Amino acid sequence: MSISPLAPAWLSYPEDANALRPIEWAGGVARTGNGELAVQGIGVAELAKEFGTPLFVLDEDDFRARARGFKQAFDAAFADLCGGVDVYYAGKAFLSTEVARWVTAEGLRLDTCSGGEMAVARVAGVPAANLSLHGNNKSVDEIRTALEIDLGRIVVDSLDELERVALLARETGKRANVMLRLTPGVHASTHEFIATAHEDQKFGLSMIELGEEPSPAAAAVSYALTHPELNLLGLHAHIGSQIFEAEGFELAARKLLSFQAEIKNKHGVELPELDLGGGYGIAYTEADTPREPAVLAAAMADVVAATARELGISIPRISIEPGRAIAGTSTFTLYETGVRKTVQVQAEDGTLSPRRYVSVDGGMSDNARPVLYDADYTAVLASRVTESEPIVSRVVGKHCESGDIVVRDVYLPEDVAAGDLLAVPGTGAYCWALASNYNYLGRPAVVAVRNGAARAIIRRETEADLLARDLGA
Ligand SMILES: *Cc1c(COP(=O)(O)O)cnc(C)c1O
Repeated sequence: MSISPLAPAWLSYPEDANALRPIEWAGGVARTGNGELAVQGIGVAELAKEFGTPLFVLDEDDFRARARGFKQAFDAAFADLCGGVDVYYAGKAFLSTEVARWVTAEGLRLDTCSGGEMAVARVAGVPAANLSLHGNNKSVDEIRTALEIDLGRIVVDSLDELERVALLARETGKRANVMLRLTPGVHASTHEFIATAHEDQKFGLSMIELGEEPSPAAAAVSYALTHPELNLLGLHAHIGSQIFEAEGFELAARKLLSFQAEIKNKHGVELPELDLGGGYGIAYTEADTPREPAVLAAAMADVVAATARELGISIPRISIEPGRAIAGTSTFTLYETGVRKTVQVQAEDGTLSPRRYVSVDGGMSDNARPVLYDADYTAVLASRVTESEPIVSRVVGKHCESGDIVVRDVYLPEDVAAGDLLAVPGTGAYCWALASNYNYLGRPAVVAVRNGAARAIIRRETEADLLARDLGA
């Protein structure tokens, strides 16, 4: 066997299919002496036996270290500019009460974007002042709750919403802390960012003037500054996801600071805060080349300092909102393999070439990202090591969809067989959070490993759970 013509250009033929690329795995993951994959010394066979499969296996120490790492790196880079950075963990990536407690204990704050996420944070005991509320269509109830609990900040997404927040603030007798989410015309993803007016989407207030009319962003600032029930803290932008380079963040920072200078000229006010959003990328496969937080923080700090100096404005307190870069790599999904199938596929050169399909006991219900975003993942045989030749394989789920793919392209050992355990790294963000009950599969448990001990932080859904809301059952 050798390089398959079916392999995409980025996928290299593995010298050793048992090897782990460290950048894709949590810090506590390694193979033990007998070759089994383990987290902090706990083997996957034991985890599968105790908690079942599919299973989200989360290295809590790794998660916390990444949370702490962001806070420390950005604090260090911005210490002399604005005294440090407020890091809001984007809860939508993966949230449970335990996770909310971890990020709080590590000195982070928490982004929520629904009543449900706020409820998790409150049950976890996160101080309301540490919470923010996002969303392009917040309900009256969600806004009212935020006001009643004195939530730290509401990130307002439109003029309609700003008026609604003002109305509800008057009604509840509260002063609303608001940030304004703008669309700075920068849209970034992975290696590329498009510095054009990315206007055609649902989020944020446009910065483009409409003839003689001020831009929606400028109108929102005027409105907020003339309504005393609104406490305008600052501007916000979130430019995309899975971003590797600093340029997109730098460009957004420049645009927001320039707007901040315009606000100063027009209204004589210097807004005290500025949020540069999330989107820091991680390594899902060997094709991904994320930067260390310290590298990005240093680049962003330089741009913020230089731009503020040029514009003659003071530097606002900076905040950021990483989600994936904290949760993503902390977790792998453990599956048990079942049916294998080998098909002959016509390669581009016309020759037939084998592709191995390896079915697992989960699929698009526990990882919707390949279906939703064409996302790539990798996988390794976890229950053992083998000398068997690698073959181009596709890891598929058990759902009634041919698009039910977990890993589109990976070289797996030929002898992977029913009953083996397979691990897919990088599933800590937007996997459990996007999980469904398609085909009446129960959603998997999440197990956290800390100090060499494993415990479930979310239990597996049972058939009783699946039937619990069926009023005819
Ligand atoms: C999704 C989101 C984030 C987090 O994005 P990541 O790519 O997970 O870092 C941060 N801020 C906002 C407003 C978001 O919508």
